[in-house]
Amino acid sequence: MLNYSSASHYPLRRVLIIGLGLIGGSLAKALKTRACVDEVVGSDRNADECRLGLELGVIDRVAQALPQEVAAADLIVLAVPVKAMERVLEEIRPHLRLQTLVTDVGSTKGNLVQAARRIFGHLPPTFIPGHPIAGAEKSGVRASDADLFEHHKVILTPLADTDPNATLELARLWQAVGAEVLQMEVDRHDEVLAATSHLPHLLAFSLVDTLAREEENLDIFRYAAGGFRDFTRIAASDPTMWHDICIANRSAILAQIDRYTTGVARLRQAIEQGDSEGMLGIFTRAKAARDHFTRLLNKSSYSSNDHTRAVHLRAQSGGELSGEVRVPGDKSISHRAIILAAIAEGVTDITGFLENEDSLATLQALRDMGVVIEGPHQGQVRVFGVGLQGLKPPPGPLYLGHSATAMRLLAGVLAAQPFDTELFGDEALCQRDMTRVVEPLRRMGARIETGPQGGAPLRIRGGQTLVGIDYTLPVASAQVKSCLLLAGLWAQGETRIHEPVATRDHTERMLAAMGARLVVGEGQVCLQPLQGRLSATRIAVPGDMSWATLFMLVAGAARTRGQYRLLAVGINPSRAGALAVLQRMGAGIEVQHRGEQLGEPVADLVITAAQPLQAVVLTALDLAAALDELPLLLVAAAVAAGKSRFTGLKALLHKEDDPVHRTVGMLQALGAEIEQDDDSISVQGGSLAGGCFEAQGSLRMTMAAVAAGLCGAETVKVTRGGVLLAAYADFVEQAQRVGLNVHKEED
Ligand code: NAP
Repeated sequence: MLNYSSASHYPLRRVLIIGLGLIGGSLAKALKTRACVDEVVGSDRNADECRLGLELGVIDRVAQALPQEVAAADLIVLAVPVKAMERVLEEIRPHLRLQTLVTDVGSTKGNLVQAARRIFGHLPPTFIPGHPIAGAEKSGVRASDADLFEHHKVILTPLADTDPNATLELARLWQAVGAEVLQMEVDRHDEVLAATSHLPHLLAFSLVDTLAREEENLDIFRYAAGGFRDFTRIAASDPTMWHDICIANRSAILAQIDRYTTGVARLRQAIEQGDSEGMLGIFTRAKAARDHFTRLLNKSSYSSNDHTRAVHLRAQSGGELSGEVRVPGDKSISHRAIILAAIAEGVTDITGFLENEDSLATLQALRDMGVVIEGPHQGQVRVFGVGLQGLKPPPGPLYLGHSATAMRLLAGVLAAQPFDTELFGDEALCQRDMTRVVEPLRRMGARIETGPQGGAPLRIRGGQTLVGIDYTLPVASAQVKSCLLLAGLWAQGETRIHEPVATRDHTERMLAAMGARLVVGEGQVCLQPLQGRLSATRIAVPGDMSWATLFMLVAGAARTRGQYRLLAVGINPSRAGALAVLQRMGAGIEVQHRGEQLGEPVADLVITAAQPLQAVVLTALDLAAALDELPLLLVAAAVAAGKSRFTGLKALLHKEDDPVHRTVGMLQALGAEIEQDDDSISVQGGSLAGGCFEAQGSLRMTMAAVAAGLCGAETVKVTRGGVLLAAYADFVEQAQRVGLNVHKEED
């Protein structure tokens, strides 16, 4: 029972439902089974429906004389077809008490409000139109479902005269039957519903009707596949109800039919003219928008980073290495590639693209700003660049899921656009600090407002003239550097950035390869004002150094023999610190077939096992180019001979989610002897044993735990390691193919 306090303005004890069909019956049953009110009384012009409702336990009692029932009710729900609403309102009006709430469940609102105005002369403060966005193709009380409204939305459209307490009381009742309650203006409701519910129903009716008229219609229906069945399911809805809705919401529905007709004409023209770009533009935008809405509504991330997935990984040393592996594409290069391809002129083909949260969130944001992007499909993406002046205002705020990197880099692009934008993301992202980019962008002339703690939502005011700055990064950050360089593309004058420690320079290399003028010097980079444009190109994303490091570590593994080859790994010096460190530790790694892909150095790495690693002392200078690989290098130190030291960490580790210190804890739990202070970590080699570790959603820790098993003396089991497979789906199969002892187990 809902606990209505005696102070409640409108205690709802007795509910009268008029119209005991699918919706009225479902609400009655939901209220009754959840004991939300004292009594649910049903009324319907069809006496059989009432009797059935009583028999099925949907209502407590059938209304006898309507006037008395109306006078005795605390809440009256009109659940009749929209066409009948006016007549029922007229019938109940003379018997209504002042305190009785009146609502309805009709699919249109404007017509009801007009009718109420006419009948009452004014709108009573207890009158609150409503509409549950839930239903089925069935009708009648037999179809009543007590859970119909669970996790569904109910739109209330209170009017200027409605008492807010009355709205609140009704909202509580809907919430008590599991619904999520929203409020909207009457006209807006009718517009939105015309687009999202009425138009799709009418299209389904019309398509089935059109096909049913064909001579061979039997064949058409017999061979109709799943798509046709799914699309036309709603054509089985009640014809009378839809007839009434079309009459009641005529003008909003006509406006939506006209918009749709224009859209279909555009598609027809693209097909007629063989305009592939036009067709693909429509299909990719539609697909992306559909996927995007699903994520937005669930407020979920872009990548299926399902760390709770019950996949367990078991790793141990002792394999016989052979063959070759192509590790997934570099994360940062994939991300930058789509941003630059979108603002270049012409078509850019990207291969080896890594689908992860940063790149997928950015891809969607660019699509929202009018960039046509095909894929990603098996690492291939085709971007139809719009040029530096070609981005379009997005239809609404840009949702960036979980990706702080996407937000920071896009802030640089958007600060320079002629239109306003708003960037937001999931709850975690809204708590990440954005001042590191916002502050220097403001110095360039950008106008940006942040959320309460300096985080999202970022509101970026368009139409500002940016001016290049001379800026020293307070903390080494490739993200901040890239954000400012991107903004610098539109700025007057040069943009010069000084770095305390060199960070990864993919943005600089890619910009230069696409036609920007950069001067790179000791500890600084200077972007000259752009003359002309960025040119589209082909981008083959090199293999990711973090995954390569996991495969390289095995060089020093106990009881492991043989050799394998890692193909086309990115060895950009600003990213290849781990390679240099492992070579210093004596790992058998040979760099072969050096080459370059769009300014990025790449090479094959040949790994030979059975050479024990030696301890090493590393400074910030050694580690700056191995930041993401630090957890893996801690594992290398834990299996090496002697004591290793990692120093200068204070200047390097500023990530809010610090996987390095969490990895230290994990390795200690696996027996490693590790000491640490603010600035350094010391690891006693040879101390690592086996054990079990729960992944806790961290990719870097999970990689380190698997590496600990592959290199150490004993088996390591990682429970709930789905995060690793979300990032590298066939890791286990590929690792096994080249001789590593990794296995997965599912619950
Ligand atoms: P339903 O199953 O056909 O039920 C409507 C009931 O109201 C029928 O038993 C009908 O009797 C009765 N009725 C008609 N005129 C009446 C009157 N003047 N006095 C008393 N009873 C009367 O329809 P429903 O699907 O529940 O729809 C009810 C309302 O909910 C409609 O306004 C609709 O727009 C709205 N709605 C429907 C859905 C959905 O998916 N179905 C979703 C959201 C909202 P007869 O059978 O004798 O006509």
